[in-house]
Amino acid sequence: MPERVISRYTTGRGGPTVVLIGGLHGNEPAGAQAIARVLARLEADGMPLRGEVTGLAGNLAALAEDRRFLSRDLNRRWMAGDIEELLAAGSGREAPEDREQRELLAALVPLLVAAREPIVFLDLHSTSGDGPPFACMADVLRNRPIALALPIPLILGIEEILDGSLLGYLCDLGHVGVAVEGGQSQDPRTVRHHEAAIWIALVAAGCLDAPDVPDLGDHRALLAVAAKGLPSVVEIRHRHHIQEGDGFVMEPGLRSFVPVGKGQVVARDGSGPVRAPEKGLMLMPRYQGQGEDGYFLARRVSPLWLRLSALLRRLRLDRAVPLLPGVQPHPQQPDQFVANPRIAVFQVVNVFHLFGYRHVRPHRERLVFARRRPDFRRLGPLPPEIRSLRGGTGPESA
Ligand SMILES: [Zn+2]
Repeated sequence: MPERVISRYTTGRGGPTVVLIGGLHGNEPAGAQAIARVLARLEADGMPLRGEVTGLAGNLAALAEDRRFLSRDLNRRWMAGDIEELLAAGSGREAPEDREQRELLAALVPLLVAAREPIVFLDLHSTSGDGPPFACMADVLRNRPIALALPIPLILGIEEILDGSLLGYLCDLGHVGVAVEGGQSQDPRTVRHHEAAIWIALVAAGCLDAPDVPDLGDHRALLAVAAKGLPSVVEIRHRHHIQEGDGFVMEPGLRSFVPVGKGQVVARDGSGPVRAPEKGLMLMPRYQGQGEDGYFLARRVSPLWLRLSALLRRLRLDRAVPLLPGVQPHPQQPDQFVANPRIAVFQVVNVFHLFGYRHVRPHRERLVFARRRPDFRRLGPLPPEIRSLRGGTGPESA
C-alpha cells in the first residue's frame, strides 16, 4: 500500500514543479503503482531532472479496501466553501474522506505556497469498464502542451462540468492540470499506460530532455497503439446524470469511443429505456455501482478549431463575448456570462467554447456560462480557505 507522499525526486536544478496524483479513487490502484515505478527509476538512474517531482497517493483507506470511496467521492468537494467547512470542523469530523482530504491539503499547500510558476498536476485514474486510455483537461491554453503531447484522445468539457474536482480547484488557482484515464482498472496494461504518460509529461513539462529518457519512443508507441484509430480531441456534448436508486444499468457491450446513434437505447433505469439524445461517441459508460454519471456523449473537435481558439484567446477576443446577441455579463460573478437562449442563437454555445466557457448551468430562463481561470490571469495569492495551512502546518495541528 502506498503512503500519502509516495516519493519525491529532485537534483536541486531549477525547473518546473510536477505533482503526480494516483488513487484519488480507491478502486483505481494503477496510477499510484505507476508513480512509484517512475520515481524509483528517476532515483535509481540518478536522472538529470530539472525542477522537482512529487508523487501523492489519494484515497489511502479506500485503496486498502479496493473501493472507489468509503463515505464520499474524494474527487469532489474541492470548492472554497467545502474546504473552509472541512478545516473549520477540524479532525473531530469522522468521515474517512474528510481525513484524506485534510492530509492531501497538507501535502499540497507547501507546494502551492512555494510556486512562482504554474505547477503541473497529473491526476491518474482508470475506468471500471474496458476501454482505451485517454486524457481530460479544462479548456485553458496552458494545459495544452502537456495534454497534446500524449498520443491518446483528449476530452474537453469534462473538467468543467465536474463540480469540485481536485484538478478543477487547482486549475482555478492558475495551475496546469491534466487527468489521464489509463484504461481498465484491473488490466495490467493500465499501469504501463500511466508510466508512459508520466514520462511523456515530464519531457513535455521541461523536466527532462527527450534524450534523457531512452525509451521515450517506446512509451509513445505504447499509447499510440492503445489509442489507434481514435480521434485526437473530442468535446463533451451530453452528460447523463443519475440519481441514487433510479436503477440505472448500462446496456452491455458499450465502451468509450464506440459510436452511438441518436435515439439508440444505451441504458435502462426505473422509467424505462435511456436513449442517446444525439449521435456521438460513447464515453465512460458506468458499469460499476458507484458514481453519479451514467455516461457521456462526445463529438470530434477539428485541429483547425483548436488552433483558431488559441489564436482568438491570445488576441483576447473573449472581451467581445458580451457583445453577442442575448448575452450579458453575470451581475455577481466575474468572468461569467448569462445567455438568453431565446435570443442567443445556437452558434453562441460554440463561441463560448472557443473561449473555454464550457461550464453551463441553467438559471431561471437563462443559461450561465463559466470557465476555469483563464491563461492571462497569473497565479494569484493563496486563496483565503487554505491560507491558514501555509508553511506546511498539518491540519491535524490546526
Ligand atoms: Zn477515478
